[in-house]
Amino acid sequence: MNSQELFDRSLKAAPGGVHSPVRGFGSVGGTPVFFNRADGARLFDVSGKDYIDFCQSFGPLILGHRDPDVAAVVRETVETAWTLGACEPWSLELAEFVINAVPWVEKIRFVNSGTEAVMSALRVARAATGRQKILKFDGCYHGHLDSLLVKAGSGLAGESASDSAGIGSDLVNNTLVLPLDDEAAVDELFAREGDQIALLAIEALPANYGLLMQRPEYLQHIVNTARKYGALVLFDEVITGFRVGLQGIAGDLGIAPDLVTYGKILGGGFPVGAYAGRRDLMDQVAPAGPVYQAGTLSANPFGMRAGLATLQKCKTRNVYAVLDERTSSFSSTVADLLNQKSDHQWEALQYASLFWLRSKTDAPVRRVDQIPAGHKERYARFFHALLAAGIYLAPSGYEVGFLSFAHDQAVIDQALDRIASAVASL
Ligand SMILES: *Cc1c(COP(=O)(O)O)cnc(C)c1O
Repeated sequence: MNSQELFDRSLKAAPGGVHSPVRGFGSVGGTPVFFNRADGARLFDVSGKDYIDFCQSFGPLILGHRDPDVAAVVRETVETAWTLGACEPWSLELAEFVINAVPWVEKIRFVNSGTEAVMSALRVARAATGRQKILKFDGCYHGHLDSLLVKAGSGLAGESASDSAGIGSDLVNNTLVLPLDDEAAVDELFAREGDQIALLAIEALPANYGLLMQRPEYLQHIVNTARKYGALVLFDEVITGFRVGLQGIAGDLGIAPDLVTYGKILGGGFPVGAYAGRRDLMDQVAPAGPVYQAGTLSANPFGMRAGLATLQKCKTRNVYAVLDERTSSFSSTVADLLNQKSDHQWEALQYASLFWLRSKTDAPVRRVDQIPAGHKERYARFFHALLAAGIYLAPSGYEVGFLSFAHDQAVIDQALDRIASAVASL
């Protein structure tokens, strides 16, 4: 069966034929490709065609698909224990690795996804402060929990509206939304209702609406403001944690959050999330404290052991420095190739092993409303030309691309050849 036949069947079996929305190709058009094998930097579709993969499952695979060192640990796990629902040593080893690597992580609790991690961090913040309101920023994604599937409303600054059907209005009213890159908006909101705000939650490197790099002085200012009013600070590092470095974007900025959430890379390709931070806050969580949170499959041995093997390899093999250099050179070369042919100029944004291609702008793009008009359509054309040439990018212009440690020079050279021929065909 080819991808078209499989997708036709899938449409009858699952909403939109998929189990997570972006996979449906709604943003770029056309039929999703069905893959049934992955190896290193490559995906293979059901007809056997290979693609060099710059999506990497949307971020978890910093070492690429089925890295041999991680695979060895996974095979051992198959022969040892799958899930115990009891105490075991592997979650302790991963917890201690993170605690040793990240100074503001004094305690950590493992869950099964990034969404679950953020949801639990909000619960801790509300319990610890006795306050109800959560502040988030337009252009940051924190998973699909009800409280944060909320966007900016049309009225007063900070006012909100639900970003999905089915969200209770009481939840929407307790979530405040502000634009990024605007100190005055944060000052004004805290002056007005700072005594009700439990938590300021932010992606300090927003990477779920393109790559909206923030000014460090802005981030420092909003963190200081939140603290002045007694609110806690959550850095949602589900995408940046262990991707930009072992200490995440907080480490690069030199800003210590009160709470931090992880996911993606932390499980080495298996479903793992975590929330972590100050000891007094984490000790609010059951059974140490009154905040209930539990999970049947939490800290499952596959995720714990694959995650630890991944992080150890990142540390010992200098993965972050290597990937930063390769991604910088790769993404700027792709922009150069595009600019030989297109009628307008493209620009590559890059931070560590994340990159985002968009139209060149005169001023930096730090907010959603600054993304050039027509980006989605231009990206869709580019995406399909590359797909045909055997390059798989995320099927949405608002998702970033990733390099993995498996993208070595030979793979990158082959990718650039494929991209050059795709651009020539545009
Ligand atoms: C991916 C992501 C999430 C959600 O994680 P899931 O595992 O998909 O639930 C939350 N926050 C950020 C910053 C993310 O990138």
